[in-house]
Amino acid sequence: MNALRMDRLSWMDYAARIQRDQPAIFLPVGALEQHGPHLPLGTDGLLAAAVAADTARLVGGLLAPTLSYGYKSQPKCGGGQHFSGTTSVDAATLIGSVRDAVREFARHGATRLVVVNGHYENQWFLIEGIDLGLRDLGPQPALQVMRLEYWDFLTAATLADVFPDGFPGFALEHAAVIETSMMLHYHPSLVRTDLIPDEPPADFPPYDRYPTPKDWGPPSGVLSSAKGASAEKGRRMAHELAQRMAAAVARALR
Ligand code: ZN
Ligand code: MN
Repeated sequence: MNALRMDRLSWMDYAARIQRDQPAIFLPVGALEQHGPHLPLGTDGLLAAAVAADTARLVGGLLAPTLSYGYKSQPKCGGGQHFSGTTSVDAATLIGSVRDAVREFARHGATRLVVVNGHYENQWFLIEGIDLGLRDLGPQPALQVMRLEYWDFLTAATLADVFPDGFPGFALEHAAVIETSMMLHYHPSLVRTDLIPDEPPADFPPYDRYPTPKDWGPPSGVLSSAKGASAEKGRRMAHELAQRMAAAVARALR
């Protein structure tokens, strides 16, 4: 059995794994962000890490520690920065962290890095960090990088099952059915099902305004109801995600 977590390996074991297996290294990226009254602040990173761990197991990969601070929460997909505990970093900080990770993993011989994003707002800054990191490595870098938002691996058939009344879209899926179900599957002790609010989905105008209004979304911070969440839905989604992400890693990275 290959060990899964990089931070539990000695440097010698890590060096041997890199030499022997050229494992794909999974780097989860999350956020510290309000997730309503029923989910913890670290939900995005916890879910990215859980899905990355399941996928890494399937492909014989290694799981690196999570980058746990994300880009600033936006009202239309995360509630906004005004919620207590939403503790974010500037874009330059996130870009720099990912750029450093790309360079550092490459420096000790990793050839495959999979950046697993769990926080909607991170996306373009991860892309920039990867781009700058690869530029640092020079032409024909030995490291290949794959980047993904885990929710994109859910099939339309699964979304139809999970949302019998219609899928509200991933932006409004904040602290809602997908995240709550997945947390009930992976971390049931961290979910307060008794506190799940029952509100209509948030309705936003097709523009942004600055300074960001604090009253655009529901005061609970939940952008569409999590009432339909269940551990069984979470189990099905988690299984599908790991299977399909593993297949994609095998396909995309030599
Ligand atoms: Zn989230
Ligand atoms: Mn988020």
